[in-house]
Amino acid sequence: MIPPIASNFVAGETPEASLAHVEGLNDRGVAGILNLLGEHYEERPPADADADAYVDLVEAIAERDVDACVSVKSSQIGLDVGDRVFEENLARIVEAANAPTATDGDDGSDGDESGTFVWIDMEDHETTDVTLDAFERHAVETDGNVGVCVQANLKRTRDDLERLADLPGKVRLVKGAYDEPAELSYKKKARVDESYRDCLAYMFEAFDGGVAVGSHDPAMIEYATELYADHGTPYEVQMLTGVRESAQFELAADPDTDAEVYQYIPYGSKWFSYFYRRIRERKSNALFALRAIVGN
Ligand code: FAD
Repeated sequence: MIPPIASNFVAGETPEASLAHVEGLNDRGVAGILNLLGEHYEERPPADADADAYVDLVEAIAERDVDACVSVKSSQIGLDVGDRVFEENLARIVEAANAPTATDGDDGSDGDESGTFVWIDMEDHETTDVTLDAFERHAVETDGNVGVCVQANLKRTRDDLERLADLPGKVRLVKGAYDEPAELSYKKKARVDESYRDCLAYMFEAFDGGVAVGSHDPAMIEYATELYADHGTPYEVQMLTGVRESAQFELAADPDTDAEVYQYIPYGSKWFSYFYRRIRERKSNALFALRAIVGN
């Protein structure tokens, strides 16, 4: 069982718990991005098992008719085993996500033609090319029912965005969670923030839609609002479970904001290392955990 201090950041251990969490969010105008925790499998069986779990999950999302999509990590579905394993497992998930569902109309019409959206998270720089290539293939095949994450701390990202601008699908811009080599990445926070702003401005200018702001940073969210006012490009804001949740609900309820709001929701039995990362990255999260332990 997940202890209460960790359950702030993780929806539960089972798909059922994550779907119940999504239903609660949907009632408050926030959609869900479900992520089964797991990464860096070096053998095929656990990678296949997590891909199976995602296939079941996209079917459960369609059956429950909740406003949710999924986000997968390349190394979770086999990239460390081999490119082919990753590609086969991703294809299975995308295919299941786009399969006709029981909620489609009995008269032969499609009840929900769009299927379940599949995001591909971005991991360290060694995975960028293979991840973008896989995204491109599926974005074209599904006419935009997949998305990919790119990282503002990588120097290459601004150029990658020019390639992505011509493709269907969505792109999530984040600052980047991996400690990358200095020759490939910006190290100073102010420089990463500057790169984030440059990339975001380009996305609002050059993309027809599908801009996702993956950040808790009020300055970046405000900047997106300004760019939207200038360009009118549809966009969404994505934040993590347990981080600035009141801001998520306020944004979703704000009649002056057109942004869709998504919460990225980790779940599953491998919750401990994820929870530990959240606590290490920020003092306020550590204080929250400490208060929970001492019962104040
Ligand atoms: P920071 O630059 O860390 O902080 C800026 C400001 O945001 C802070 O001053 C504060 O005002 C606010 N803030 C930030 N964190 C908190 C907090 N915990 N509590 C309260 N206020 C806070 N990284 C990847 O490398 N690959 C991915 O695929 C990926 N996917 C992501 C998906 C989503 C939906 C999100 C939100 C992040 C993802 N990340 C991913 C992580 C990302 O790269 C950053 O490491 C992380 O989001 C921290 O950057 P930030 O922009 O949120 O804010």
